[in-house]
Amino acid sequence: MDTDKPGAMRRSAPSGAAKVATGDMPAAPPMRDPKAKHPRPPFKAQSQPWPGLAGKMDPKPDHGETSYKGSGRLLGRRALITGGDSGMGRAAAIAFGREGADVAINYLPDEEPDAQEVAEWIRAAGRKCATIPGDLRDEAFCRRLVDQAARELGGLDIVVNNAARQQTHASILDISTEQFDWTMKTNIYAPFWIIKAALPHLEPGAVIIGTTSEQAYDPSPDLYDYAQTKAATMNYIKSLAKQLGPKGIRVNGVAPGPIWTPLQVSGGATMEKLQEFGGHTPLGRPGQPAELAAIYVQLAAEDASYANGQIYGASGGSGQP
Ligand code: NAD
Ligand code: MG
Repeated sequence: MDTDKPGAMRRSAPSGAAKVATGDMPAAPPMRDPKAKHPRPPFKAQSQPWPGLAGKMDPKPDHGETSYKGSGRLLGRRALITGGDSGMGRAAAIAFGREGADVAINYLPDEEPDAQEVAEWIRAAGRKCATIPGDLRDEAFCRRLVDQAARELGGLDIVVNNAARQQTHASILDISTEQFDWTMKTNIYAPFWIIKAALPHLEPGAVIIGTTSEQAYDPSPDLYDYAQTKAATMNYIKSLAKQLGPKGIRVNGVAPGPIWTPLQVSGGATMEKLQEFGGHTPLGRPGQPAELAAIYVQLAAEDASYANGQIYGASGGSGQP
């Protein structure tokens, strides 16, 4: 059998394989217990006016600022990330920069301090960072955001629809039409407007990533409006993957479990839930945004070329997918 043909089975390693496998790798880092790696509940009672700042949380979330190591997986790619100032979006933005991508981040004007820190980390990695504040509930702004990101980065290859609104309400009776509309506009309409504006920029090989949630599959009683938007996100990822796959554009999603981010301390969770946040999971703690950064990188990277319409989870052991 000719073992050098693609798809053929090779039983002995080709010469030089050991060098490729272990090459100049540094010493193995010690294994760490995932339960003990990050803060565990109980957490201090805390709340911030929406949308909240990562820099004011206690403990401060870990977005991989001092830990994420890149290896050129996204070299030369151009990415737009909504909600790129904090939480999962910030972890993805820092990781993308360290993997060699230029990054545009969108956020709300009140989040400028968080956004500037992200820009500094990306520039420290030697990449471009465009900071584009604005409210995603406005269709015209969504179009301007995409155009400005493409103009400043010289094109667009990766679009991450990550921003979202989450407010806890014990009863459906407590949700006003205005609140309901706010959640729908941010979480469902904005990705719709952004993807429509981005498509003319996206070439075969480009990727779209949406942040959904375990709430898409197992909604909490106090997140009536939010949870259904996450189900919609999961669903648009799967329909668009079928629509855009034939054009060579992959569409995938990330479904976090409980993650320590500003969204939770600015109305997203009750104080009781926040103080015990993540304690119910098999790992006994919430996740940190840094622990999801590699998932966004993986979905965006060329070597994940068969991942399309997939939802990758990170929930500490309970929840879906
Ligand atoms: P986060 O607060 O750090 O990020 C959310 C971002 O959304 C904000 O930083 C803000 O910039 C942006 N945003 C909200 N409304 C906006 C608007 N009208 N215009 C522009 N930007 C707006 O919190 P996060 O938890 O990192 O959230 C990121 C994503 O993760 C969201 O899609 C959220 O639904 C999802 N998620 C979070 C959790 C969790 O436990 N934290 C769990 C599952 C899914
Ligand atoms: Mg924020």
